[in-house]
Amino acid sequence: MDNFELIVIGGGPAGITLAKKLGEKFNMAVIRPEKHSMIYCAMPYVVEGIIPEEKTFKKDALITQNGAELIKDSVANINEKESKLQLKSGRIISYKKLIIATGAEPIIPEISGINFEGVIGFKTQEDLEKIFDFKKKGVKNAVIVGAGAIGVELAQALNASNINTYLVDMEQTILSNMIDGELINEIQAEIISNGIHFIPGEKVVAIKGNGVATGVEFESGNKLDFKTDDINCVDDAGKGPTCIVIFAIGVSPVLNFIDGTSIERGKNGIIVDPFMKTNVENIFACGDAVEFKSAITDTPYSGKLATNAVQMARILSDNLKGNKKEYRGFYNGTATKVYSHFLGGTGLTEKAAKKFGFKIVSGYGEATTMFPIMPGAKKIKVKIIAKVPDGTIIGGQIVSEEPVAAKIDLLTLAMQNKMKVEDLVDLAYSSQPYQSFFPAGNVMVMAAEDAFNKLKDL
Ligand SMILES: Cc1cc2nc3c(=O)[nH]c(=O)nc-3n(C[C@H](O)[C@H](O)[C@H](O)COP(=O)(O)OP(=O)(O)OC[C@H]3O[C@@H](n4cnc5c(N)ncnc54)[C@H](O)[C@@H]3O)c2cc1C
Repeated sequence: MDNFELIVIGGGPAGITLAKKLGEKFNMAVIRPEKHSMIYCAMPYVVEGIIPEEKTFKKDALITQNGAELIKDSVANINEKESKLQLKSGRIISYKKLIIATGAEPIIPEISGINFEGVIGFKTQEDLEKIFDFKKKGVKNAVIVGAGAIGVELAQALNASNINTYLVDMEQTILSNMIDGELINEIQAEIISNGIHFIPGEKVVAIKGNGVATGVEFESGNKLDFKTDDINCVDDAGKGPTCIVIFAIGVSPVLNFIDGTSIERGKNGIIVDPFMKTNVENIFACGDAVEFKSAITDTPYSGKLATNAVQMARILSDNLKGNKKEYRGFYNGTATKVYSHFLGGTGLTEKAAKKFGFKIVSGYGEATTMFPIMPGAKKIKVKIIAKVPDGTIIGGQIVSEEPVAAKIDLLTLAMQNKMKVEDLVDLAYSSQPYQSFFPAGNVMVMAAEDAFNKLKDL
């Protein structure tokens, strides 16, 4: 039996970060089942044909370069009393310290027809290859359930592949967890004008078909059923794919292998303290596999993002090296691209802030990404959400025709430092015709000032 000082279960962004940071210090192993770790974020662009699938494969050397051993297997169960793992292959290995970084899987609801051919989630290499297979067989229709960033990116990719694409969401607007309604309208219109059929306010309650998906049924009684008008995509055997139904409604950790242990878990994953320790001595967890809190509300919150996973893994690595550090929680800075627009959000949306009972004001700014006299200047809109009465920033959103991620990170940094809109009004910034707003027209300052004035008027 092999013995390791440290074993990490999972080779995603969290597992890779741990291997890079701790490989030299510990006799350690990383266990993951896949042939390749993948850059999941880039998967929609593989579907669209912008990059080849192989470009999303991460090199195993990322795990092994600092001395960690990579074991391609999966953990079947944990013997917590003897500090041993049983692997699917039958192999048994022992650990002194264990880190669970097994991520999360797409949620596929238990509704009728869910096992029909053509119903998938979107995370693995197999999911990607199923989509290629359906494309090869000439599938004409796609229903994407969930209009979050993954659903919206995938909808653009399938629409660009000449597949009749339907994007369904229970909410009235796309990206409703990232951007509030008034900023998204123009972008939603662009989705529709590009041919994507957006179906708001509907919940999928059943898959239509007979062994093979032909459509979906909604709670309202409405349905999308392609079986009659889509004879062209029936394959030789007469039962090829009429449509593909892809669920992008969120992810949830699959932690069957901890059944029978005393590791505590909540609805969203393994419960850890700010040092990433579980309730069991010498067992830690991080990444999508854990349940943690929002840094803003201080209550359990969803934060299944690669950025959060990496940050948790870095903090855990520091703690295991003896540098005590606490993870403060999720801010969930995210960004996406919708046709000609780049957009992003951080912290709480206005809708979420109100749901949590915050009294808020929202400040708006609008400018151009360069001096407006410069060729190529594009529009940019910023919204900042601040708490009443003190003006602490608790959220922000940006929509532009140029990348916004760096500006979103500036707002996250402001929130991490508990800044108020009043502080952002005093932002010291740079300015140059090709690279920024007018010296007197910084859009962040504008939005902060608008929120600050609204606070004063209350
Ligand atoms: C299509 C898509 C696009 C995304 N885009 C973005 C984005 O733009 N920005 C962003 O921040 N995030 C994005 N995400 C989310 C991001 O990919 C995840 O948050 C991140 O991968 C979580 O990292 P992790 O290491 O915790 O888990 P994962 O990456 O899920 O890795 C978990 C690992 O554990 C392994 N494992 C599971 N069970 C076992 C077991 N029993 N034994 C051994 N190994 C096991 C898995 O096989 C896998 O290797 C996207 C996700 C998807 C699917």
